[in-house]
Amino acid sequence: MSAGEPDERQEFISQDKEKGISVNNGKHQPLHGQVALVTGASSGIGAGVAKALARAGARVAVNHPGTPEQADRVVAEIQSAGGTAMAVAADVSNEEQVKKMYADLFSAWGTIDILVANAGLQRDAALIDMTLAQWQFVLNVNLTGQFLCAREAAREFIRRGVDSNRSIAAGKIICMSSVHEVIPWAGHCNYAASKGGIMLMMKSMAQELAPHRIRVNSIGPGAIKTPINRMAWDTPEAEADLLKLIPYDRVGEPDDIARAAVWLASDESDYVTGITLFVDGGMTLYPGFATGG
Ligand code: NAD
Repeated sequence: MSAGEPDERQEFISQDKEKGISVNNGKHQPLHGQVALVTGASSGIGAGVAKALARAGARVAVNHPGTPEQADRVVAEIQSAGGTAMAVAADVSNEEQVKKMYADLFSAWGTIDILVANAGLQRDAALIDMTLAQWQFVLNVNLTGQFLCAREAAREFIRRGVDSNRSIAAGKIICMSSVHEVIPWAGHCNYAASKGGIMLMMKSMAQELAPHRIRVNSIGPGAIKTPINRMAWDTPEAEADLLKLIPYDRVGEPDDIARAAVWLASDESDYVTGITLFVDGGMTLYPGFATGG
């Protein structure tokens, strides 16, 4: 682009100067005509991903585990921006509820093209204090929940096959993992085990489903400002401490993850399968070694 020529990218991207990030303003619609389900979408990263998929043209089912007011707010935001969304309830760790959620989705919109298996939580404790209930609760939601949702999506992708009017692929599954699929985390062994489990579940699913033209990938967020980790960023002292782990020197926003999700869901990433895309401002770069080692 030479000086004085308009930058075409500006048509599609607005700058959020306060957060220091850019956001699709709804004119770039690589997911037009597709149906997406985002689990745990009534807050945090899931809400950001749901809104971004809708701006990119998808109809979005906003899953929640029994918090309809919050989910309805996300749906209303999408609709008032001109998108299409509906709330769908299910505890992702409950097989019957997951099956019913998919049945509701199919009766409303016929099929599915994109699953973002995002729902997750923490129940932290030192190893010697961790109860079996804390261990199982986190594994049930974070890992079994992704298995149950991915299985139902894959069944539908295989049943329908590729519809080239919708996408080059028969379906896309995006697992919300974490930097803690590779970074150990003392005091969080249940959470780290769930994310490490997601890594090999995702790769195994990707290997198994690729011949069906189904792509399976993960996103590994670093520290993103959401309710799950409020204590780590909501005072200046806590944020300064956290920034020591982030070479890029800012805490992430849900939109940072959402843009990666739109790309992984779109045909622009066709031929990408079985990877974890870390979106972490360099947290996995062993920042302690920048000055030590
Ligand atoms: P969040 O607490 O805002 O979101 C988690 C969502 O999951 C909530 O909306 C919650 O209602 C939903 N949920 C919990 N249990 C559920 C269940 N049984 N069924 C359906 N939904 C359920 O936190 P977040 O940071 O947005 O987390 C989203 C995902 O991102 C999680 O998988 C988390 O592990 C991952 N992640 C977050 C960070 C971060 O820094 N925020 C970093 C790495 C990974």
